[in-house]
Amino acid sequence: MNLRQLIELQEQDNHILRLQDELKEIPRQIELQKGRLNQISNDCKAAEASTQVCLKQRHSLELDLKTKEDSRIKLQSQQFTVKTNEQFKAIQNEIAAMGKAVSQMEDKILESMEAAETAKKELNTKKTAFEQENQRFIEAEKKLLAEQSRLDNLMVEAKTKRDSMQAQLPSNLKNIYDRIRLKHPENAIVTIQNDICQGCFMKLPAQISHQVRKGDKFIQCENCSRILYYREDDTAL
Ligand SMILES: [Zn+2]
Repeated sequence: MNLRQLIELQEQDNHILRLQDELKEIPRQIELQKGRLNQISNDCKAAEASTQVCLKQRHSLELDLKTKEDSRIKLQSQQFTVKTNEQFKAIQNEIAAMGKAVSQMEDKILESMEAAETAKKELNTKKTAFEQENQRFIEAEKKLLAEQSRLDNLMVEAKTKRDSMQAQLPSNLKNIYDRIRLKHPENAIVTIQNDICQGCFMKLPAQISHQVRKGDKFIQCENCSRILYYREDDTAL
């Protein structure tokens, strides 16, 4: 009977499965954190774009203002060259309208300057957040990669140990174990408790249960095909 060896092999296989899970988790973690960093980077780009929009708006308003002011100056110089009273009045009205428009534009420019200022502050906040997140990401990635390399080493050791453990088993047992394990990767070999298979939880016939308890024969569950074994202390559970 090689049940003890088989149980140990299963423990080793499960250890390898856990290492695999841990290893799979690392690139996932890195991607997750990279995603967070990209999000902040996109926020930064959006803030940068809205700052640019504000600056362009202001620039275009300033150009418009300049044009309006030039026209006003031109009208002001024209007002004394006109011949009739009506023309003078018309120019005066136009100058007043221009003045109003200029003052409205100046207000708009002030508003746009404030908006640009707010957008710039927002951008700086986002940039700082990005820098912090980037720093945090670099550190986290370094740690995760170090962990990955530690796990890789453990995996090599674990697999080497597994191979040597498996090599000590008779090939028929090894084959049965491997076959059951395809279906039940974590518990190809299970205990019985109170005559119940701890893999599929079916009640075992008394005869089978008795044989498993005796432990001198290699027994599989009739229902799930798992290899069964009996452990003294399980009765206390
Ligand atoms: Zn079973």
